[in-house]
Amino acid sequence: MEANEIAEQVRMCAACPKMCRHICPTFFAWRSDTPTPHGRALLIHQDIVGTRELDDRGVEILYQCLECSHCLTLCVPEIDIASIVEHKRIELVNEGRYPRGLDRMKDSIRSNHNPFDESHSRRRSAVATKAGEGRKLIYFIGCTSSYREQEIAQETIDLLNSIGSSVTLLDDEWCCGSPLFRTGFVNEALEQARHNVEVINSTEGDEVVVTCPGCYRVLTQDYPMHGLELNKPVKHISQLLAEQLDIIPASKIEGDVTYHDPCHLGRHCGIYDEPRHVIQHVSGGSFIEMERTKDNAACCGNGAGMRTLFTEQARAIGKDRIEQAKRTKTKYLITACPFCKNMLESEADDEIDVIDLPEFVRMAQRAD
Ligand code: SF4
Ligand code: SF4
Repeated sequence: MEANEIAEQVRMCAACPKMCRHICPTFFAWRSDTPTPHGRALLIHQDIVGTRELDDRGVEILYQCLECSHCLTLCVPEIDIASIVEHKRIELVNEGRYPRGLDRMKDSIRSNHNPFDESHSRRRSAVATKAGEGRKLIYFIGCTSSYREQEIAQETIDLLNSIGSSVTLLDDEWCCGSPLFRTGFVNEALEQARHNVEVINSTEGDEVVVTCPGCYRVLTQDYPMHGLELNKPVKHISQLLAEQLDIIPASKIEGDVTYHDPCHLGRHCGIYDEPRHVIQHVSGGSFIEMERTKDNAACCGNGAGMRTLFTEQARAIGKDRIEQAKRTKTKYLITACPFCKNMLESEADDEIDVIDLPEFVRMAQRAD
């Protein structure tokens, strides 16, 4: 985004009646007009026109954005606050003015290739593959399924094997770079990206499959935007499964079900139908949408550095999403993102089970 384009957009936003703030999750979390789309645009506008410099409090507010893009769905002039905020974060990183609470995540990705301070050598410790026939898939596991939601990785491998695909894991997968791209550390993100592109492009396979929408967005949008091209198509697991419903058991799981749209999969990549088709295929109960769904889905609270920097508010947003899910009175809340599952499961109680999409399909296979 060019500087004059940003200046024009924040000028328009600063003069808006700002009705979009009511769907901004950080307005909900802080109960303040400042951490809102309009509040962020106003800070940048004032800095550009010279009426008020962006101070440390202003920097903090720019880092309180989840980059969920929910505000964009309501904005008639289509002011893309998430992209503007991300652009501004790149400038702040270049000026050394980012919140120091991000250093641990950044340094861990650079030295361990994951944001969790875990050893790189443990990345594949919880998963096993076996030689198989059929469609040759490279599974890019991602950091969350490698270290925090490991059951998703193994269930995905077993699921792909069971539907006639052979699964290859990369010899040396690094973090996709998503946490770094989203928080303004583009140069550091590109270190990870260049390595991954080299390793993926030199690995034999027909397609790359990912379970994490953050990885999906970065591999399909951020890498090409920076001139890094993969030599194989990339699919999210929901797309791959939706293509093969004829070999997945139907109507097997008792109990009603609802679905949480991950921001990176839905609003950022436009994938809304495929996960719903898969869920409705395997579920024997009713599929009940939450009040806020598809492009109006509320964020889980885990994105763009929020949980690292503002844990209490991030968890409040996750808790609220769980309350929205519970109002459907369903037994299961399915998501299609290990990072969303990680947040939503930690805020759920025994009234609702939070399950990732490949795990739900494996449940159907077991019930068959
Ligand atoms: S993001 Fe759009 S709708 Fe929201 S305050 Fe700015 S201009 Fe208005
Ligand atoms: S991207 Fe999300 S968190 Fe950021 S201002 Fe818009 S609605 Fe609020």
